[in-house]
Amino acid sequence: MSSKTKITVAYGDGIGPEIMQATLDILEAAGAQLEYDVIEIGEKVYLKGISSGMEPKAFQSLRDTKVFLKSPITTPQGGGFKSLNVTTRKSFGLFANVRPCKAYHPFVKTHFPKTDMVIIRENEEDLYAGIEHRQTEEVYQTLKLISQPGSEKIVRYAFEYAKKYGRKKVTCMTKDNIMKLADGLFHKTFDEIAKEYPEIETDHKIIDIGSALIAERPEIFDVIVTLNLYGDIISDIAAQVTGSVGLGGSANVGAEVAMFEAIHGSAPDIAGMDMANPSGLLNGAISMLVHIGQPEVAEKVANAWMKTLEDGIHTGDIYQEGLSSQKVGTKAFAQAVIDRL
Ligand code: NAD
Repeated sequence: MSSKTKITVAYGDGIGPEIMQATLDILEAAGAQLEYDVIEIGEKVYLKGISSGMEPKAFQSLRDTKVFLKSPITTPQGGGFKSLNVTTRKSFGLFANVRPCKAYHPFVKTHFPKTDMVIIRENEEDLYAGIEHRQTEEVYQTLKLISQPGSEKIVRYAFEYAKKYGRKKVTCMTKDNIMKLADGLFHKTFDEIAKEYPEIETDHKIIDIGSALIAERPEIFDVIVTLNLYGDIISDIAAQVTGSVGLGGSANVGAEVAMFEAIHGSAPDIAGMDMANPSGLLNGAISMLVHIGQPEVAEKVANAWMKTLEDGIHTGDIYQEGLSSQKVGTKAFAQAVIDRL
């Protein structure tokens, strides 16, 4: 029997194929034990009339491999197309969105060089549960759904994550001064679960002041756990303050299936030009290697990638006169990482 782990791979749209090829070349050179089941997703599939952007055989592949490395896709303009990410999250119960937000000072410009936080966002409930209807001609309603089991699952995940990765503090963010029942339940569940992890420091912030602090003093945060909508917003704020939106990866994790990707989109403006920075997807792939039990390979890739940045070998999006030593394209960047493995 093969000792390789089979994963589902989608090359996506725009810069997707270039950054995926670069990422897979690096993983292969690092000795990752992987086999690929390649599926087609995104624009071409949408334009075949499949509104989810994903064919039935692609869903089957995910059910079989349970691990999905995904490039960004282009969502066609106009109505009738469902978000592929939302469909995947709902179909496979990917309840946790995990987004590390770290400053890579001085290679990437930021006012907050000490930032190193992980945002863990609940991914299935809240205003994203899809309970929307029209009450009258002039009034529409979207209902916020928060459950005890859903809250417990994500809060426990956050504490287990902190424990596993040696993080010291978990901060919960809610708006329970106003939504006393729904957000109150999330906060109460957090306080209950926290008792099981006495070694981890805990804190609660009302989401508005919490967001302001992320923008002003991001270094005070370690792990943040929050509801779906708040998490969606603060993970973009946090990525932006680190200055590394183009470098960030994210994971969507469920009880069985997990999906790993870059946080940026398909960048059609630079597609096919060998200009894209593959680091976001590579960081997603590094989390994937840890998830599938190949942490040594993950560490090897992470170190080689960091060394490439330190040596000043930068793609155009992070190139800085005086700091960078060489401006390279996608392929040369991947080769530079491979040379440092
Ligand atoms: P984008 O993230 O694709 O691009 C924003 C800007 O950042 C562009 O100037 C682009 O050139 C640059 N950029 C992004 N990634 C880069 C990289 N790796 N290297 C260098 N430069 C990079 O956002 P957008 O333009 O708003 O969206 C384009 C398409 O991507 C849209 O169709 C959108 O729906 C889709 N999208 C997909 C995902 C996903 O699949 N997860 C996420 C966000 C957006």
